[in-house]
Amino acid sequence: MTKIIYIAGLGHSGSTILDMALGCHPEIVGLGEIYAVFNKKKTSELFEKSTCSCGKKGIDCYFWKDLQKISASELKTEEKYKKLIEIFTEKYGENMILLDSSKNSYSYLRFLNKEYDLRVIYLTRDYRSWIYSRFARTRKPMLFLGLRWYLENRKLLYVLKKYNLKIMTAGYEELSVYPEFILRKISDFTGIDFSDKMLYPDNTKSHIINGNISRVDKNKRKAFFYDVRWMTSGRLARLSSIFAVFNKFNRSLVFSNISGKEKTDFYIFGNERKKSLLKNHNE
Ligand SMILES: [Zn+2]
Repeated sequence: MTKIIYIAGLGHSGSTILDMALGCHPEIVGLGEIYAVFNKKKTSELFEKSTCSCGKKGIDCYFWKDLQKISASELKTEEKYKKLIEIFTEKYGENMILLDSSKNSYSYLRFLNKEYDLRVIYLTRDYRSWIYSRFARTRKPMLFLGLRWYLENRKLLYVLKKYNLKIMTAGYEELSVYPEFILRKISDFTGIDFSDKMLYPDNTKSHIINGNISRVDKNKRKAFFYDVRWMTSGRLARLSSIFAVFNKFNRSLVFSNISGKEKTDFYIFGNERKKSLLKNHNE
């Protein structure tokens, strides 16, 4: 049975870089935001003008070149998806895992869950970092953006849970600061062996024609980077007592892999590790 990994979460939460990183794994090919490709009003523009993460235009891309007609057709999303999987299997074989980073709680997920082995990675970016980045782009009030972050995540998660999908939460912060740690957790969840190739997204086999423009940014593709500029924002700091109501929900989504039980003995910072080093090497 074809295995499908789906990246869910709000826009601007790092799904494109995660798609590219997972697409470096020998058993995974990422295809970006499949739903958007299927539903773009101007498919011809997308296929002719957008550069795929492989460096070619959609019409010349190894994967997407055979999908333009299907994408532009009047078929239902499920039907288009079936045809996409046929082409995917022809090109990559039965055992390759398909990765879709369409992000939203689209109803075709129920179909995918029924017909295939679907695993969902719910990726969330810390509300402070998300608000700052959206504010820098749109200049919309931070309070409004904060509320949007909260309500949209609540709604998205509610629908995904209602669909009864296998979901793993991961934070963009966890991923960009401790990429190996989180990619190992994702490997366990999706049933693949960890490969350190995933630490260098630039070498991706993913074909993303619809996704964040970082897909073609040579500098951003080199490794995982974290933009810490939100920490310098006075505007955000002044609102922090109001935003504190988001903290618990934020922790449960963004820091689920590094908080809780492992808090006092986490990764390379643990007390246990320090104790054993001190014992063996003296203070
Ligand atoms: Zn391509």
